Amino acid sequence: MNFTRSILVLLFATLIVACSRDEGAAELVPPAQVKALPDVEWLKHGLDDGEARYSELADINTENVAGLSLAWYFDYPTNRGMEATPLERDGILYSTGSWSLAYAHDAVSGELLWMYDPKVPRDWALHACCDVVNRGVALQGDTLVFGTIDGRLVSLEAATGKLRWEVQTTDKSLPYTITGAPRIVKGKAIIGNGGAEYGVRGYISAYNLDDGAMAWRFYTVPGNPEKPFERPAMERAAETWGGGPWWEIGGGGTVWDSMAYDEELNLLYIGVGNGAPWNREIRSPAGGDNLYLSSIVALNADDGSYVWHYQTTPGDSWDYTATQHMILADIEIGGTERRVIMQAPKNGFFYVLDRKTGEFISAQAYGLATWATHIDQETGRPVEAEGVRYEDKPAPIFPAPYGAHNWHPMSYSPDTGLVYIPAQDIPHVYAQDEYFVHKPGFWNTGTDARAALLPSDPTERQAVIDMVKGHITAWDPVAQEERWRITHEGPWNGGMLSTAGNLLFQGNAEGELVAYSAGQGEPLWRFDAQTGIVAPPMTFRLKGEQYIAVVAGWGGTYALTAGDDDNSGPKPNYSRLLVFKLGGQAALPAAPQRPEKLTFTPPKLEATPEQVEEGLKLFHTYCFVCHGAEAIAGGTPPDLRAISTETRANWDAIVLGGLHWEKGMVGFSKALSKDDSDNILSYVTERAHFALKKE
Ligand code: CA
Repeated sequence: MNFTRSILVLLFATLIVACSRDEGAAELVPPAQVKALPDVEWLKHGLDDGEARYSELADINTENVAGLSLAWYFDYPTNRGMEATPLERDGILYSTGSWSLAYAHDAVSGELLWMYDPKVPRDWALHACCDVVNRGVALQGDTLVFGTIDGRLVSLEAATGKLRWEVQTTDKSLPYTITGAPRIVKGKAIIGNGGAEYGVRGYISAYNLDDGAMAWRFYTVPGNPEKPFERPAMERAAETWGGGPWWEIGGGGTVWDSMAYDEELNLLYIGVGNGAPWNREIRSPAGGDNLYLSSIVALNADDGSYVWHYQTTPGDSWDYTATQHMILADIEIGGTERRVIMQAPKNGFFYVLDRKTGEFISAQAYGLATWATHIDQETGRPVEAEGVRYEDKPAPIFPAPYGAHNWHPMSYSPDTGLVYIPAQDIPHVYAQDEYFVHKPGFWNTGTDARAALLPSDPTERQAVIDMVKGHITAWDPVAQEERWRITHEGPWNGGMLSTAGNLLFQGNAEGELVAYSAGQGEPLWRFDAQTGIVAPPMTFRLKGEQYIAVVAGWGGTYALTAGDDDNSGPKPNYSRLLVFKLGGQAALPAAPQRPEKLTFTPPKLEATPEQVEEGLKLFHTYCFVCHGAEAIAGGTPPDLRAISTETRANWDAIVLGGLHWEKGMVGFSKALSKDDSDNILSYVTERAHFALKKE
């Protein structure tokens, strides 16, 4: 595993009728006459508005899970990261895949009913920090909605996949993207966006389901203070920013993933992201908390007006978003039932808040979080460690911008009282970018990515790599303590699902889907998926049988930027929808044979050390987000250290001319000169020699 990785940077709806199986009766009646158990659907992203991802189904349980096997699978026509949660309704499974394609399948047979391709221009991948992923659809009546990587909200007829309407939710002159799943609240589709690393201003919008007309919009950070504030909340937020033209780089605060909704309170909770740029010194030189960055904000669902906020990382300088999964639950704390909202944001602390008022209840570190010593119980604010803002010198800290937990959904089981966190330990060295200039549309973090590169010395290098870990952390949110953990080979493992069958499901980076007991984390069943899984599993019951479904396919930001340092090459991506039931009869074809090692055949390095250093700088501005830090690829885009002689000959045509634009590799002629292109090639060549030296 590898640290190049760290370089960068129940309210169960009444529709779910728990049905107890009458075992005695079943024995007396011939099977054909047994009334099938009622269907149980999965209608919303996190199963319900509270997003607990806990299913009351127990047909599959600790006693019989060993008999779980593949019912059917579907090979997607793409090979980039897969992050969606499928929905199931009326026997149809709806999902999305990379490049924002949407799919509907017969949930029993697996037959593809329709597929919709919004034809995202492949060169928009340039603005996608975190792979061309999509996390799913929202459904209501005959309407299905989902977002596209180029910023559209698309509405289809659920039955046919025919376009009803689509609306551009973003300014196409700016590097906005959509990867998150919309939510539908009171007849409106709610959708945010991403792009803070590239320089945008975050917001969330609501569109009428009928015609796509915008109903309201809430900006998360103030714009140019010389212009009128869109809402009173922006005027208050502006007081916490100062000293710089943050609005020229956008300010950030994108709402790129999590939401939850409390119907009784009519509050929509949104998770708000990091600043643009990351570094507050540049973004807001006068300091300040920079509201509403890295915050949970509660909005009135009718008009998007501000109700309360809680900021997890005041004055964020580390990409510590609070866009991570939020769970609503009613739990007893100190003898009182509390209506809480829970989150494990990137910054490494697990928060429990009162979801009506936003009152801070408690927070403790759920992983390695050395940037702060603790969260002050009185103020609810973090107590920062010394030097953590890297003003004078680089700061080596946990967690990295990848987060102690990223977007991968958690699960909360009311049976065990545990929150299951797909957690990870990844260190990072943050450093000032002394030469920062805003590069519109490109990577603009205001930090020097070179400080976070792995050491060249083999022993020091391995020591850093060995710090990088992934876990399932079973967290008691009342005691704010870890109950147990399962340690994986590495980070960036899949989202979680827990069930009343005392089961916990998770896919992992190593390419398995695993079932554990939810109580103790005992592994009970494994399936070889042949490809890393980052998406969360879901479950439903149809025609009397419980199914488990998950989309498989390695990808996302960590996958792309952090390849293994052992020259083994990127992990494979076989993008598939995998659907399981007890006694399923399907089997995957054998995985293609892959070479154990990459082959490096670099020519002699002719460039000067200065040219290589310049190439390194440029590479970590323009290239590493897809091709991996230090040119070690972890995902589908090629490992540039191992390019062929032919690719070398076409280098400028590809890098400057955009020869491979249809694969998402755009031409950079507007940003890079011929000398720049040469220097990047020299750097890649130097890296190939470095890799050879290690063998
Ligand atoms: Ca970010």
